Amino acid sequence: MDIMHEDRVIIQSLYPAWYEFRVHTLDMLRLDLVHPVISGNKWYKLRLNIMQAKDHGYKTILTFGGGYSNHLIATACTARLSGLKSVGIVRGKYPVLTPTLRNCVEEGMELIFVTKEDYERQGEPEWEQQLAAQFDSLYIVPEGGANEWGRKGAGLISKFIKPHYTHILLSVGTGTTLCGIRNKTNPQQHVMGFAPMKQGTYLTDHIAPHLDQEHKENWSLHDNWHFGGFGKWNPELIAFMNDFYAVNNIPLDIIYTSKMMYGVRDLINNNHFSETDKLLCIHTGGLQGNVSVEGLVY
Ligand SMILES: *Cc1c(COP(=O)(O)O)cnc(C)c1O
Repeated sequence: MDIMHEDRVIIQSLYPAWYEFRVHTLDMLRLDLVHPVISGNKWYKLRLNIMQAKDHGYKTILTFGGGYSNHLIATACTARLSGLKSVGIVRGKYPVLTPTLRNCVEEGMELIFVTKEDYERQGEPEWEQQLAAQFDSLYIVPEGGANEWGRKGAGLISKFIKPHYTHILLSVGTGTTLCGIRNKTNPQQHVMGFAPMKQGTYLTDHIAPHLDQEHKENWSLHDNWHFGGFGKWNPELIAFMNDFYAVNNIPLDIIYTSKMMYGVRDLINNNHFSETDKLLCIHTGGLQGNVSVEGLVY
């Protein structure tokens, strides 16, 4: 599909003073530039799913998310551009729509609000059959695009990752993107996932079963920089983001990439890396979520 701007994706070197020259290279892969709405990794997790849906004649894409979900708005927009209807199953009630949900509606997505209990039933065949009965030929994408096609699609990001990098760093939510990238990069390259929620290393059990035999090693999860939990932040994180933007001219998102870069700098300062290491951080996008954040200079 040529709706995306892959030619706009660049690798940007961070300003060496920011990391005090403590590693050899610190670059950022700007996947956030791939599309203003379908940002970063979301496009990659969706594209093979959308292809599957179209190839098999499905007319409607249904997926799941919360009120601020980057995945939900990315799905709404991708579906519209691909000529498919979209339905979003939203966890919780929103008498007033969040900016993200408003955008979903503007993209033509039909929203269905369900209780936490019903939301947790995703994946249950019975519930999926009930949903399917309500719509014209339904293709279901799990929350976060976390299926085989999502992982395969995320693997396509590896084309931007040159083999000279010793470490590849990215933020994790479901771990789908990490999985795809681990499977498609050189086994010697260390892939580090930064979880923006408390006790995010539980994701290990979700990731490990999907790694190919020759890519089972050399990856790790880090969950020290959650700032109180998923979707939480404090003035220190905002100040960090503003400083990062001032120095490197890169906007980070409040949910994922800011916490990752905060962690990256902590690790660098604590000599986790050596002076010869070459790091590539992946900017997975998510900037739409910043609209509800106060105090950002960008
Ligand atoms: C969704 C998202 C992630 C997490 O991706 P997973 O494949 O679910 O691990 C990371 N960063 C941003 C900006 C996201 O929107």
